[in-house]
Amino acid sequence: MKDSNDKSKGKGITVKKAEDFNEWYSQLVQKAELADLRYNVKGFVCYLPWSTITIKKMYNIYETILEKKGHLPLVMPSVIPERNFQIEADHVEGFAPQVFWITKYGEKDIEEKLALRPTSETALYQMYSYWVRSYNDLPFKRYQSCQVWRAEATAATKPFFRAREFHWIEAHNVFRTLEDAEAQILEDMETTYEAIGERFAIPSIFFERPQWDKFPGAMKTFAADALMGSGKVLQLPSTHLIGTNFSEAFNVKFKDEDGQEKLGFITCYGPAISRIYGAMIALHGDDSGMIIPWELAPLQIVIVPIIFKGKENAVLSKVKDIKKQLKKYSIKIDDRTHISNGEKFAEWELKGVPLRIEIGPKDIEKKQVVLVNRLTKEKEFTSLDSLKEKIDEIAETYTNNLKKRNTVDFEKSIDDAETLENAKESISNGKIVRCGFCSLEKTAFPCAEIIEKEIGAEVRGSRVKGETKTFKKCIVCNKPATKTVYLAKSY
Ligand SMILES: [Zn+2]
Repeated sequence: MKDSNDKSKGKGITVKKAEDFNEWYSQLVQKAELADLRYNVKGFVCYLPWSTITIKKMYNIYETILEKKGHLPLVMPSVIPERNFQIEADHVEGFAPQVFWITKYGEKDIEEKLALRPTSETALYQMYSYWVRSYNDLPFKRYQSCQVWRAEATAATKPFFRAREFHWIEAHNVFRTLEDAEAQILEDMETTYEAIGERFAIPSIFFERPQWDKFPGAMKTFAADALMGSGKVLQLPSTHLIGTNFSEAFNVKFKDEDGQEKLGFITCYGPAISRIYGAMIALHGDDSGMIIPWELAPLQIVIVPIIFKGKENAVLSKVKDIKKQLKKYSIKIDDRTHISNGEKFAEWELKGVPLRIEIGPKDIEKKQVVLVNRLTKEKEFTSLDSLKEKIDEIAETYTNNLKKRNTVDFEKSIDDAETLENAKESISNGKIVRCGFCSLEKTAFPCAEIIEKEIGAEVRGSRVKGETKTFKKCIVCNKPATKTVYLAKSY
């Protein structure tokens, strides 16, 4: 799109988010300079500085929360010998099709091929058998921040959401009893709400996943789904009650108080930070571009001096003063002279800088500035004397206002359905469907298959806390409903 009168138009997003979400997202990623998809290996993406700065902040927030709750950091090798990989049967079956293998170094074949970790259970638990000796070592809580590699079929159709290499945190814990392990699952859910809900402003619901959709090798899987602007849900962190399957396979045992050797109960939790970033920009953004929570923004405030010939010095020196006053924030003066003010405004809106300050010669005379809030798009005058207080107030409320805006939408997007016909209609209207279901055990899988085939949605599972609704019958087979489940399309 070209418009010779306003060059900024061609640089902005040309579709509406509500009308064409996929195109909106892909333009956002490109035009806000978040990722470059031209790297010449399929499914591997370059993250550019604007996304990387925020992703690092997200890591930092998450790591701080985990460490406060007693997880210690470590760094594991990124290669796993084939032997380890084959110790736990369900696990190998679940991940085998996605593993990248290293088979050579230089010209030589490697004797035992090495997997690039798709996840680290089989690397860590072998070492846990050395590190966990006694009940005094428990609970044993560790995490690492790292990349993992999975050869997903749909790679790179959506940068950040899915790619063949992604960036995450994985926490792996060993406990003395099943109850302790179950308590950790609840703690992981709290951590999710604290990081993703409070700090990143993304509302989500935790579901217990059906048995046919759990983590390979786990007893139970719980996962948070967030609703994207497109009517599809995206799975955010999941936490798995692994139980003793892996302890048995990898010999993770401890000597209990009574002198007996016992198997440790394991849980693991995997927030995929790059994917959460994708969810965040998809959920928060609007037709003008990105919206970023205050503390995650690479740049929090941009000052645009409105310059007229002959009055440059007065304005520029005032602007430097203001910057100094606000130095606790990430702040920048945009004094580029080769582009118009309109272009600057559009660019920083596209990139989601939370606050813009405009100041020209007239404002200086009146001892005021103009503030423009990215979230509300409201413009207001503030006197220079109270500027600092005003901005502190915006900094404090910005993310919370964003969260409030997002929370309203979630519950509104759930429809109850008694028949497949109703469910189909709701799904096609971009809703999540709540309905009765016979069971979440593997025996109910045929009913889930019918839902997938007939209405193109998945059974996401049953809500972990706060379910208020019950149904008499399974929406597919009409047997008595033992569960209230949610159906949705997903990424
Ligand atoms: Zn059924």
